[in-house]
Amino acid sequence: LLASPTVKETQPDPLPPFYSISCRVAVIGAGVSGLLAARELRREGHRVVVYERGNHVGGCWIYTPESESDPLGLDPERPAVHSSMYCSLRTNLPRKLMSFRDYPFVAEAVDWSVDPRAFPGHAEVLSYLKGFARDFAVEEMVRFDTEVVKVELLGGGGGEEHGGRWRVKSRKTTTTKTDGIDWSGGGEESDEVFDAVVVCNGHDTEPRIAECPGIQRWPGKQIHSHNYRTPEPFKDLVVVLIGYGTSSVDISLEIASISKEVHLAIRGPSKIAMHDQRHESRTQIKHAQEDGAIVFEDGTSIYADVILHCTGYKYHFPFLDMDEVVSVDDNRVGPLYKHVFSPILAPWLSFIGLLSKVVSFPLFQLQSKWVAGVLSGRISLPSVKEMMEDVDNFYAQLEAAGVPKRHTHTMLTSMFEYNDWLADQCGLPGMEEWEKMMLFASYESLITRPGTFRNEWKEDDLASKGYEDFVRSIS
Ligand code: FAD
Repeated sequence: LLASPTVKETQPDPLPPFYSISCRVAVIGAGVSGLLAARELRREGHRVVVYERGNHVGGCWIYTPESESDPLGLDPERPAVHSSMYCSLRTNLPRKLMSFRDYPFVAEAVDWSVDPRAFPGHAEVLSYLKGFARDFAVEEMVRFDTEVVKVELLGGGGGEEHGGRWRVKSRKTTTTKTDGIDWSGGGEESDEVFDAVVVCNGHDTEPRIAECPGIQRWPGKQIHSHNYRTPEPFKDLVVVLIGYGTSSVDISLEIASISKEVHLAIRGPSKIAMHDQRHESRTQIKHAQEDGAIVFEDGTSIYADVILHCTGYKYHFPFLDMDEVVSVDDNRVGPLYKHVFSPILAPWLSFIGLLSKVVSFPLFQLQSKWVAGVLSGRISLPSVKEMMEDVDNFYAQLEAAGVPKRHTHTMLTSMFEYNDWLADQCGLPGMEEWEKMMLFASYESLITRPGTFRNEWKEDDLASKGYEDFVRSIS
């Protein structure tokens, strides 16, 4: 591994650039998005309060062995466990692609607890985020154990000094379990008023379940990957796993080492090469039967013990009751200009971190810089009409390309253009060529060698290019 600059060598938070407006801003959540938002907002001269219902920073990277009592996570009243991390989880991107633009994600070899691998485990990511929060004094802005329960616009919007004021209602939560994020609500409530609200509450907590005919009466056990932690409960069982993301591939490989059989029910042709005998790719489920059989689209069937839904998550904003302004429709959060600003309430209501299948850490940092710059008046937005037109055009493009509504915020390669557009708004350089190459290389190795690619990863040339770019950017 190259001797990259360490965290300690990075610059402290520089003085804010010129700004004209200092807003009081509420940030909801202290995961990656909330930490970045808080730091960038303060850098720009805003006054920030971060509400976090757990008692640590790090959001979904805080692994807990606890899972929810309802294995499908359908009961809206259940005590929610925020994180969907499983015990063995390693990043699906090389750490160099997960670095914030000015805070490298490198292993500090002096510390025995460090996980120096190119694709580290979840604990290493959490320690990176904690280091970031510590080094930029973000924690001092966070109100821990405080859940936002309602966000409402005061006075019907408009008319106030900066176009709107928000009442943010919160309540104290009681952290009850091991490592912080589990909570049970019901504590003391309070209200506070802000100029702007930045929503950073994450989107990997509310399970989406596959709907197949007969599944309600199917007698086996069903669980969503949100509640998957370790493979042991699947020992000697026949498991049907629905879904085809990185987590489903990881989990299916892990379960295959202990279960009797694993069947991956996949929409469309399987692209990922599976080499395990007990691992079979199937077509989608056609229906499930009361006698325990599962029938696939191609007419084959099996008797299974467990259905594991690796079918992703739903956006969920229980504290926002503003359907006329922004709503969730078939997992599309909208209308939002460039996935961030509500056109009608811009810049006073924004969302960071909604995107998936992106290089999320540096991209969410750009979104944060954009929001901070727009709030201070340093960066301008188009008119409401122009923003709405942009949103309509984007939806029309998705429809013309046959992209289902529920994938509105899923990007893959369209991320490059989006990233560079955001960077340009912020006056920063776009994505480097080595980053694109590294991303393609990691996708390619995931598809061709899903079980081994993390350990076989060779960065060499790509990494030295990345190192040179980084050194150039801080010198
Ligand atoms: P979160 O990390 O979910 O943080 C949201 C925070 O908001 C939480 O701390 C929560 O407690 C708080 N919160 C929620 N509601 C409220 C409320 N009402 N009041 C107060 N606080 C609230 N990305 C990668 O880049 N690489 C990977 O390898 C990778 N692997 C992943 C593996 C899994 C299993 C999952 C689920 C995701 C993975 N991701 C990965 C994506 C990951 O979600 C993002 O990288 C990123 O961490 C999301 O950060 P966030 O801050 O937007 O949300």
